[in-house]
Amino acid sequence: MRNLVTALIIALSLGSQHALAISADDLATREGEVIFGQAWLKSMRGRLGERMDPFCIDLLETWLTRLKNQFELGAMPMTALCLNSQDFNAFAAPGGIVGVNRGVYLDLATESEIMAVLAHELAHLAQRHHYRGLKNSQRLSTGTLATLAGVVAAIATRQGQAAQSLIMGGQAANATAALAYSRDYEREADRIGVTALAGAGYPPEAMASVLQILAEKQTQTTQDLAFLSTHPLGIERQSDLDARVAQMQDPREGQPVLSPKDFQLFRCIQTEGIEFATGKQAKQSCSEIHALLADYRSERYEQALNQFDQLPEAVRQTFSGLDLEIALTLKTGDFDRSREAIETIALFFPSWVQPTIAAVDLAIAEADARLPRALRDQLVQRPERLDLWRALARFAQAFKQDHLLFEARSWDALLHGKLEAAKMQMTRAQEVWPKAADSRPLDLLKDAIKQTETL
Ligand SMILES: [Zn+2]
Repeated sequence: MRNLVTALIIALSLGSQHALAISADDLATREGEVIFGQAWLKSMRGRLGERMDPFCIDLLETWLTRLKNQFELGAMPMTALCLNSQDFNAFAAPGGIVGVNRGVYLDLATESEIMAVLAHELAHLAQRHHYRGLKNSQRLSTGTLATLAGVVAAIATRQGQAAQSLIMGGQAANATAALAYSRDYEREADRIGVTALAGAGYPPEAMASVLQILAEKQTQTTQDLAFLSTHPLGIERQSDLDARVAQMQDPREGQPVLSPKDFQLFRCIQTEGIEFATGKQAKQSCSEIHALLADYRSERYEQALNQFDQLPEAVRQTFSGLDLEIALTLKTGDFDRSREAIETIALFFPSWVQPTIAAVDLAIAEADARLPRALRDQLVQRPERLDLWRALARFAQAFKQDHLLFEARSWDALLHGKLEAAKMQMTRAQEVWPKAADSRPLDLLKDAIKQTETL
């Protein structure tokens, strides 16, 4: 998926030679990057293997926001994607889109290490490596270039929808245009990333330890690591980084978002059902949690909750513990416990979407047909969060509220770039929208569709 992103940028850089006469600077602006990134995301969304795990998405957003302030990324929005793949990989696409496979948590044992990976990815974005790296590359066919020139033109004239169609149409042609970051850019991303990591209050040594982990993985497996194919390792990367870290003054260490116990539990939850190929210790430390989750998946909810209650209090009281407690108690009917856990997370992370979605699931479990008000507020503030629309759809289905179901499906289609489907669902929502109901959600939907059409 990186190929396409990088491929587009080459077309831009060649733009001046094309009849379209689009300047490379059209995409090299932060605004152009965001338009491109969003169009790309919509076209890819169905194939990314996203996890609709609100806790994971909120946490990744929080980590990214913390790091972002360390880079010159201006007002670039951050779109966090938790992905289901078991492979060790993470990527950043122009426009602030960052995806992390849950497979990385097999190997990354601390928040500092995941922050090091994210800092490295954001450094590529901040330094516009996609764009710069492809400026001189000649590896694309003319057919691909023609498609990409169209994408560039569409973006330059702010036609997001047209750009998206071209991105989708041109995908096959781009499949072979494999382009990775160069080793020079890797060193630069390490260097800038490690400074940002320290600036955000994390030990810079974590960057070196990630390189160490990658080097070990490389020797242990015959398979190509996706991450290493786009971020080549090279011995010099490690020594350059070591020198850099040695030069750095002792940074002020800050509080991580998750305590070490919390991160460990989060890690176990994320690696559910994955075989730990290496790291027996990690496997052992997660065995209890994985057993609990296996019970949960087999609908042995009481048993799973019993196991949870036997965990040390310091583990249960973590944010990941509360997230787990919500999931379990919603199933066992211990709703007071769910409510309390939801309120605790909301108190510590007022901007998080997770407590709102949990409140929706609690309303469904309690057969309370009143839509939690916080959901409407969040939907207005964060309409790009697909997990919120999925929660609205669950609620609508549970209480047979068709107008809400069509509304949720319309947004869902819109976030997948399916404009016609979005319009059709909107029409259906309009047809059944109760006269007495607030019509502002319909207006917002209409505006969003119109914006996509004319962007
Ligand atoms: Zn890299």
